This record gives sequence, structure tokens and C-alpha cells, in this order.
Amino acid sequence: MEPIKGGTLARLPEEAAAAFNAYYQDQKTLPSQASLAIRYAASLSEVEIVLSGMSDLSQLDDNTAYMQDFKPLTEEEKELVEKITTILNRTIKVPCTSCRYCMEECPIQVNIPEYFGLLNLFAVTGKKTNMYYQRYSMNHAKASECLKCGRCEKICPQHIPIRKFLDEFAELYE
Ligand code: SF4
Ligand code: SF4
Repeated sequence: MEPIKGGTLARLPEEAAAAFNAYYQDQKTLPSQASLAIRYAASLSEVEIVLSGMSDLSQLDDNTAYMQDFKPLTEEEKELVEKITTILNRTIKVPCTSCRYCMEECPIQVNIPEYFGLLNLFAVTGKKTNMYYQRYSMNHAKASECLKCGRCEKICPQHIPIRKFLDEFAELYE
């Protein structure tokens, strides 16, 4: 389940995408970023089935193309995965995939994924965008209004300590 981490690994940030492109630059066709994540999961000896969510026909075509003639990751590709993992761990502060499951549980509708997006942006760029916070919080509760009930954390597939990061976000933006 979630081999592409809710789509996050299909849209790599700039530095990680550059490492990916450099590695495959000699290939006639650049493979999709998602294919590396799915092939990584499928290459693990204890994995029998890989389930990947797909939202359009091109993703289905892509997945079936490389899985039909499946080739496990080479040692060099495993090193590439390590490199990308290091970059991602350094640049992404909150591993939120914007699935919004937490919003279905939140009794006061704190706009969790949008606030985490701003927190990640600050981690990468050091810039605050107050205008976006005003917009995102217009019809939602502010981060500081969180009731600390923990309902969101029970459902979050990424096991994110949401309350802790909301505190951090509130300190930064409020
Ligand atoms: S802990 Fe805060 S953000 Fe999470 S569901 Fe409760 S009120 Fe909403
Ligand atoms: S905090 Fe968790 S449940 Fe909420 S959007 Fe992000 S990944 Fe999904």
C-alpha cells in the first residue's frame, strides 16, 4: 500500500528530481518518477503484491508497462533511491500527502494539509507567506484553535504528530 506515498514520490522536489534525471539521462525515454518508487517496493523479497492508486489512464498505462516486464532495481538504482531519500528527509519537514483524511475527523475543521504545506515551504525557502495563511484559514479554524483531541492523528496514514506540528506552525504564523 502507498508505494508512492500518496503521490509525493511521483512529484519529486527540484533537487531530488535533478538527481533522478541525471541518473536516467542516457535512456531513450525517461522513466516516470513513480516507477522507481513502485519498482522499489516490488523488488523487496517479502512483498508479493504492490497496490498503487491511479487517477488517470496514463498512470495505468505507465504502471502496467514496466510491471508487465518487471525488472527489480539494480544496485545502482538502489543507490539512487538512497540519495533521493536523503534529499527528501532533508527538505520535507512534514511528510503530509494532502490526502485530507484528517479533515474528515476534525470537529472544528483546522486546515491541516494546507498549513503543513506552508510549514514545508518555510523549511525549504525560509519564507513565510502570510497572505496564504489568511486565505487558508478564512473558512477554517486556525492552528492555535486546535482542541488537541487527537482524532486527526488516529486516521493519518503517515502517522504524523499533527498536534505537535500545528503548535510549531501556530508559533511561526500567529
Ligand atoms: S487534534 Fe486539533 S486538528 Fe486534530 S482533530 Fe482535534 S481539533 Fe482537529
Ligand atoms: S496530515 Fe495526514 S491525514 Fe492529514 S492530509 Fe496530511 S497525510 Fe493526510
